[in-house]
Amino acid sequence: MSTLPKRELILLTLCVLLGVALFYVVMLNLFGLHLSGTVIDYSRFGTWSQAISGTATTSALVVALASLYSQRSIYRSAESRRVIEEETAVFHWLTFKEVRDDANNLIGRLWDIRIQNSTAAPIYCWKLSFSSDSGHLCNHVKRPLLPGENVFNVAALDHLDPSNAPEPVLIFAGRSAKIWTRSALGILVQCTQKELDCPHTQTVG
Ligand SMILES: [Zn+2]
Repeated sequence: MSTLPKRELILLTLCVLLGVALFYVVMLNLFGLHLSGTVIDYSRFGTWSQAISGTATTSALVVALASLYSQRSIYRSAESRRVIEEETAVFHWLTFKEVRDDANNLIGRLWDIRIQNSTAAPIYCWKLSFSSDSGHLCNHVKRPLLPGENVFNVAALDHLDPSNAPEPVLIFAGRSAKIWTRSALGILVQCTQKELDCPHTQTVG
């Protein structure tokens, strides 16, 4: 049963429900019950075995309804997970280029942050800060994060030795207006607008 696709399972459950409903309608007629409201003939309700059989049918109906509800819950949970993944598929990492003189001596490094926006839309509100106090980048001083790779120079880190590289943390607003934090390790946490705000927000607002 678990190998059946969800849609087929739901359709099968609906068929069972309709079958049970039809069975009850036929039984009502046999018992002499009509919507017009004539007197009930209790002798037509049948024997104990028929009563037990009726209870079993009712139990089957309850189980079918519970199964339908459970399937719907699983579907909704998978759907909400898919929506979150769609709006948060954004990752970032630091890279550097070595700068050498004519004699091939290392004279410094230029650091870039690469932000891969794998969502379908630009991200207009974002802020990238560092674990060390190296300032921040944001949409006010750069540009929206377009779908694909976005590369920005991080002047505050230039000439830094790789062993001292700080951990970048990206905060951004998704299409659902929820605010998310993505750490350099890829961990995603929902956060608040306050954490997305920066000194530029007040200047612009
Ligand atoms: Zn800013």
